[in-house]
Amino acid sequence: MIVVIKNQATEEQVSELMEWLRGFNVKTNLVTGVHSRIIGLIGDTTSIDADAVMAREGVEAVKRVQEPYKNANRRFHPEDTVIEVRGRRIGGGSLAVIAGPCSVETEDQLMRTAAAVKNAGADFLRGGAFKPRTSPYAFQGLGKEGIDLLIQARKETGLPIVTEIMDLSDLDLFADVDIVQVGARNMQNFTLLKALGRCDKPVLLKRGLSATLQELLMSAEYIMSEGNGKVILCERGIRTFEPETRNTLDISAVPLLRQKTHLPIVIDPSHATGHSGLVEPMSLAAVSAGADGLEIEVHTDPKNAWSDGAQSLTPEQFASSMKKIRALEKFVINGLCS
Ligand code: PEP
Ligand code: MN
Repeated sequence: MIVVIKNQATEEQVSELMEWLRGFNVKTNLVTGVHSRIIGLIGDTTSIDADAVMAREGVEAVKRVQEPYKNANRRFHPEDTVIEVRGRRIGGGSLAVIAGPCSVETEDQLMRTAAAVKNAGADFLRGGAFKPRTSPYAFQGLGKEGIDLLIQARKETGLPIVTEIMDLSDLDLFADVDIVQVGARNMQNFTLLKALGRCDKPVLLKRGLSATLQELLMSAEYIMSEGNGKVILCERGIRTFEPETRNTLDISAVPLLRQKTHLPIVIDPSHATGHSGLVEPMSLAAVSAGADGLEIEVHTDPKNAWSDGAQSLTPEQFASSMKKIRALEKFVINGLCS
């Protein structure tokens, strides 16, 4: 971190500022130029709030030269993190496909979808039991009954289950869930993130609707700083001015996050686009960009789905897309020139 000092700052203000900064266990290096003075901070500056530094007397500007996240940072953990769940892996080169309905609706719907996605080659079953809906009058999910149905579907298919937690008070209900999803709307629910950080369970953390990649990484850091390193990042589209799609898929998030973090990166082409017809091309784009996984919504009868029917693939469409996804995965893994 570099602190630029105001020209009119007094010697006393500068030495007070340096003493205050050293209280964060960093070394301070005052550099006096012809027209300006700067303080270089040496050491771990993650606990220093740049806004708090700005608020001190005599400070003109503050510039971070290192990222404010440590646990999620590839700089301190060069190898990819690989998360293993019931023999399936996410991260480190293979492609994990998470598929299933937006919402768990009925036993018949879930068991048939689970069998279909398993047959098509999915690695995980998804399904929302607690649903974050824009309208309070829309279907809110089956709650505990939905989680019980997911556990039943896991027994029938062997697929590990992924489902979203919305409220910390429901945490006990997730004891037998394999991967806990934190939805876009809860990406900055810091109390929830910290509580999940104290659990030994993988967390699929979705990017907020208008969150920057740094904010996503800082949310991962909330979970990791409490001791849980099993975080999977998910890009699910961000809100832009384009109304043709539900969101805009930020495909560059994959290579960019890859540089910044060792955590696995998953793309959700369903919520990113809102249109079933765009799910396959965006899945292929995600695989080409090097994603570690996909999260895809599949429904046995999309037009009668209780949520997100327009973006859900039928089992047949999913099976057909999976053939192309797996073929492209092999091509990408083997390298374009080999
Ligand atoms: C979901 O995956 O069902 C969901 C609600 O996604 P998001 O949080 O990305 O909107
Ligand atoms: Mn959905």
